[in-house]
Parts: sequence; C-alpha cells; structure tokens
Amino acid sequence: MTAPACPVCDGRDVVDLVARARLPVMQNVVWPSRDEALAAPCAPFSLGVCRACGFAFNTRFDAALMVYDPRYDNDVPSAVFTDYYRSIARDLAARHDLHRGPVYDVGCGKGTFLDVLCATVPGARGVGVDPSCSPREADAERPVALLREMFRAELVAERPSLLVCRHVIEHIARPVEFIRAVVEGIRRDPAVPLFFEVPDLDWIIEHEAFWDFCYEHCNYFTRASFVHALERGGVAVASSKTAFGAQYQWAEGVARTSGEPAMVAGVADFVARVTRYAEAEQRRIEGARERLRAAGAAGPCVLWGMATKGVVFANLVDPGGTLLAGGVDVNARKQGQYIPGSGHGIHAPEWLTTLGDREVTVMVMNGNYAGEIRERCAALGVRARFDVP
Ligand SMILES: [Zn+2]
Repeated sequence: MTAPACPVCDGRDVVDLVARARLPVMQNVVWPSRDEALAAPCAPFSLGVCRACGFAFNTRFDAALMVYDPRYDNDVPSAVFTDYYRSIARDLAARHDLHRGPVYDVGCGKGTFLDVLCATVPGARGVGVDPSCSPREADAERPVALLREMFRAELVAERPSLLVCRHVIEHIARPVEFIRAVVEGIRRDPAVPLFFEVPDLDWIIEHEAFWDFCYEHCNYFTRASFVHALERGGVAVASSKTAFGAQYQWAEGVARTSGEPAMVAGVADFVARVTRYAEAEQRRIEGARERLRAAGAAGPCVLWGMATKGVVFANLVDPGGTLLAGGVDVNARKQGQYIPGSGHGIHAPEWLTTLGDREVTVMVMNGNYAGEIRERCAALGVRARFDVP
C-alpha cells in the first residue's frame, strides 16, 4: 500500500511512526448495550509525519467511516470546563468588539460554547454551524441560532464580529481546504478576526499521553504545524499560544491578503522526537496495565472521564475488560451506556458508592479535572485513591 500524501503540503515523504491495530472510529458515540459496543466500528490507525513540513496525521484515516449525527456527544458538563469556556470568552471580548455582529462558531457541537460566550458577554449574539447540532432560532432568552449543516462560506449571512473554529480541523481529512472555506466566509470583510483552537501534539508527546491519539482526530498539530496549516489556508496568524493546561492551543489572525506562508523549521528534530516517543510507548502502555493490576489487588479500579481519553485508554490498556470495573462520566446522556470497542460501562459518580467497601482507585483521565473529581468523591463518601495516568 502506498502511503498517502501529506494533506497539508502534498509531500510524499511521510514516515509512519505510531501504530494501532484498531481504535473505535467514533469515541464520542456510545452504545446502549455491551454487545453493540463490542461490535462498534473500529479501524487501524497510524500516525505518519511529513518530513517536508512536519505535519502529523493518521495515514490510515478513512473519512467515509465518520458519521457526525445527533448521536455524537462530546459534552463535558463540568464547572472546570465551563470556566474554561468563560475564560476564552473574556479573553476574546477583551480584544475584539463582539457587538459588531454575531459570533460565528464553525463546528459548534451542541452550541455550548456560544451559550457560555453570550452569557459572559452581555449583548453578544451567536450563530453556530454543525452537522450534529439540533437546529434552532435565536430568541431573546438564548441569542444563539444553530444551523445543522456542514460549513460552507454562504452560511455566513451577516458580517461577523468574530469567527471561531474550535476543535474542528483535527477531524477534517483535508484541513487546508477546510480552513480556506472558513476564510472564504469572511472574504467580504477580511478584517474580521478568526480564532482557531486544536489539541496540542507537543503536549501529547511531552506527556507520553498515548490515550490522546484517536480515530476521530485524523490530524495532530504541533505549535509550528498549526500556524503553518493556517497560513496555507489563507490566515495571516497574528498570535498563537497554549491553553487549558497546555493541552490545547489557540491561534488568531485575519484573512491573508498577500505573502507566502513561511516553511516550518526543526522538522528533522520533531521526527526524531516522535520516533523516541513511539519506541517508549509500548512500555508505557504495559506500565499502565501493571499499575491497574497492582491497584486491583486493593480494590476496584475505575476511569473518570469517558470522552476521548477514557475511551482510548480503556481500549489500549484493558481491551478485554478485565482490569477496570468501568468508567464514570458526568455527562448524564452517556451514563448507563457502553463505550465502543472494549465495551466498558459508563456510570454516574453515584455508582462508586455501590462498589463495596474496599478502596476504589480512580484513574483521573484529565488532570485538569482532578480537584473537581476529588470533591465529588468526598461528597459521596467514597473511599478513593486518585491516580493520573
Ligand atoms: Zn507536509
């Protein structure tokens, strides 16, 4: 099989470095029975790095397998996450006049970010576009309209005050073309600020976070390759920085009217870094298994956080479902359901009180929520020890 070309620069010199025999195709779709979860679509994954521009992507990605419909649910109803949304909204409102027109959110999910933004910035309005949302009109109580559509430039019907695209381009097989379509949406008003956010591959590598490689994300951006892809897509990037404990990164700019994007420096060093990561990864997965076995001697082990991280971790570390009693998630729509692939059950936090009186090991899948999770367990009177993989 010939390796596909780099989706950013079309270069052919792509080296495959991090392989998975199978991953659930949609980790944010859960299943009502264990049997259905075990039979959920899975596919091979291989992280390749382009030696010309340093872009990292799943060379085995098949976009035809992806179905973003209303069953797709990546909501995290957590105070920590809402605070994070508020901090983005305040940051944006401090630098841009968000009353000049609606804030467009490309790939808005269920519209939660726009809801928080409009609640944080009085007088702001929002328009969200997402194929998985429930469409609705804006009204006085909730000034956010949602369009159930794949994004295209014509959907930007009114001059935006800001155009936001958060956690989208890592899902899109041809990211540069998609960025171009987003920029096209503000072609009539090239001064409209553009804000992009994606997970940060540098963080994943630094923290050896093997559970952060998932099928839904076909693209993995370093701080350098993020800016490079945006520039190629027609954005003049004015600033970029990390966020959410450096797990995410932001970039902001306007439509580029002239000039050529700069080439990416340090690609050979980056390939060497990913190669070292890949060599150590199997030991790291086995180490996680050992930790669960050791903890399991004292009492049940559970994961907390059954979105991307928990689902991939369970599939890699406990594919047979023998080490983990299950997982906890605060998203009520996921509770009582099963995760794709390994079929672990998803439970409400109260489930922890039913596991007997032995100490429970809670594997906190995202350290950003550790404080919130400890408080919840203490309030429930669960005797727990906490671990972060
Ligand atoms: Zn490339």
